[in-house]
Amino acid sequence: MSSCLLGRPVRYDGRAKTSSSRILARWRAEGRLVPFCPELAGGLGVPRSPAELRDGRVVTVDGQDVTDAFTLGAELALAAARNAGVRVAVLKEGSPSCGSGRIADGTFSGGGGIPGAGVTTALLRAHGIAVFNEDQFEAADALLHD
Ligand code: SF4
Repeated sequence: MSSCLLGRPVRYDGRAKTSSSRILARWRAEGRLVPFCPELAGGLGVPRSPAELRDGRVVTVDGQDVTDAFTLGAELALAAARNAGVRVAVLKEGSPSCGSGRIADGTFSGGGGIPGAGVTTALLRAHGIAVFNEDQFEAADALLHD
């Protein structure tokens, strides 16, 4: 699970994106959750400059290349997932790390984004972990109980 969906104030702007999903509450009660923020794990702080994917790299709004931190965070997320036997992840949509269906277009224009996946999502999927967003808890839960 993206840590920010669990109420942890780890986003670039120092805020959380707490999910009120009833399925999530049940997963918590069942002890299923593995909270993880790849950007923090990769060494970035809170708050931090917003970053977007562009031409295979991750760059901040002020032009810094943070690809290495995002890549390290993704590798650590995969290691944590494997360690916990994770098959299904629910990650925050739209993030350059956690997005699973949509990411920003790399221009920092604040638009609706473009189809794509974040760095962590891409790595998890490449290793057979199904990744959903915060509007897809039912589908994620169904796969868990398959
Ligand atoms: Fe949330 Fe993922 Fe961004 Fe961390 S990297 S704040 S978990 S969306």
